[in-house]
Amino acid sequence: SMDAIGQRIQHLALERPDHIALIDGETQLSWQALVRQANRIANRLRSAGLKQGDAVAGLSENSIHYVALYLGTLVAGGCMVPLSGMASGSSLALMLNDCRARFLFVSKKNIELFEGIADKLDTLGRDQCIALDGHSPGMRLDLASWLGDIGAEARPATVTLDDPFNVIYSSGTTGTPKGILHDYRFRQRQMVRMSRFGLDGNAVNLVSTPMYSNTTLVSVLPTLFYGGTLVLMAKFDARRFLEMAERYRVTHAMLVPVQYQRILADPEFNRFDLSAFQLKLCTSAPLRADVIREAMERWPGNIREVYGLTEGGISTSLDCAAHPDKWDSVGKPTEGAEVRVIDEEGNELPRGETGEIVGRAISMMRGYINREEQTRDMLWTSPEGLVFYRSGDMGRVDEEGFVYILDRRKDMIISGGFNIYAVDLEKVLLAHPAVADVAVIGIPSEQWGETPLGLVVLKPGCTEDEAEILEWTNGQLGKAQRLTAIEFRPELPRSTIGKVLKRDLRAPYWP
Ligand code: ATP
Repeated sequence: SMDAIGQRIQHLALERPDHIALIDGETQLSWQALVRQANRIANRLRSAGLKQGDAVAGLSENSIHYVALYLGTLVAGGCMVPLSGMASGSSLALMLNDCRARFLFVSKKNIELFEGIADKLDTLGRDQCIALDGHSPGMRLDLASWLGDIGAEARPATVTLDDPFNVIYSSGTTGTPKGILHDYRFRQRQMVRMSRFGLDGNAVNLVSTPMYSNTTLVSVLPTLFYGGTLVLMAKFDARRFLEMAERYRVTHAMLVPVQYQRILADPEFNRFDLSAFQLKLCTSAPLRADVIREAMERWPGNIREVYGLTEGGISTSLDCAAHPDKWDSVGKPTEGAEVRVIDEEGNELPRGETGEIVGRAISMMRGYINREEQTRDMLWTSPEGLVFYRSGDMGRVDEEGFVYILDRRKDMIISGGFNIYAVDLEKVLLAHPAVADVAVIGIPSEQWGETPLGLVVLKPGCTEDEAEILEWTNGQLGKAQRLTAIEFRPELPRSTIGKVLKRDLRAPYWP
């Protein structure tokens, strides 16, 4: 059994007091200083009435204060609820009321957003809402004065594996936000798994995705648990990423695909010394084989692509160096995990056939809070009575057990009864020398029900027209797959974590 993270960090403060825990701009914080700050927050939360399991929400970009708040909440036995400053006021109010938040900490950048919802919060009075990084006129309290002279020694809460660790609201790329509850069991198993990728006490992990995303927490929490160093970026910028990576001899980073592309496209890329890199992780969307190839050639260290859902239950990973012939896949199920494929009726499909990916893994959410029915809807039971979780993704498994993700079930295009997976078409389009970025969506068709449309971003200086690219692309596609048309766009809308927002792209075409 492992210590809970609240206990564990107390040891770290003693074992490696001067080791740097956090770097944020010009500020560096040692493990001792970080744990003292976390303990003060924990003590104050308790004295203000926090009970074990209560929700503590944070609305902030990545910062030293935010990490200390996260750890302080865990020391006190609270359940962290990291929220996105990109969400609308109305959905934030919905989330805060849904999880019955007892405290809310807000960074300066989000004060205005907070003011818009302050009187819509059922469980939060003005005295439970605290400015996280300095005094703000819009808020009654700020962290420093709220903490006052409270002590820095704390008795960490005793928790069990079943206790709540955090609630993460799904990013909402496909519908209403749902609060995904993770317990200590989920996080501990995940941390052990990640430590095998070298995310341990020697890691210097450059964090450039937001902390409200599970993608980020997957690499941040083990780095903290094992006493490594986090280099924090509040906002991603490719050049700044390269500067920080060189300056702090960064060993690890979890990046989403679009970040790989931006970093590799920096004209100064070769000037930076990235030789300390051991491993880059990638998740959240397909990482293109051509991007993997370029990164493997130009950027030291291996790449591991990870596939999973915030809900857990399904997890695969691909070691890119070991399997250069499998870069189109998301690898094989991780230890203790299993993947199968089912059809529309819920029948299991043989190897190689395409259907919905279902999985079993050793770590799985407790459920969506206040949504038992949606939690149950995620389940699929195999003929031998094993419980699997539905991914909502269409894919297949090859002879050797490698998993391929083709499309989200909701994004799949059904044309004349034939299933078209956007990824197949996008791959062909991307191979065209003038195409920089692309998304294929289904639009209404009188004849076929739905038909694929290509939305294309051209490379700078390219002037190819629709007919040219359409002919080139359709020449390589099966008859039933062919694109109806191509439209050019200056860029594609993406979520804060870099996923193309297909629902937004589709909306104008559907009455
Ligand atoms: P919402 O539920 O609000 O739409 P979300 O689905 O984007 O949010 P996540 O749980 O972070 O939230 O995303 C999981 C999904 O991301 C998977 O179902 C899959 O579609 C996609 N995904 C994750 N990793 C990969 C990967 N390596 N390759 C391809 N797709 C991936």
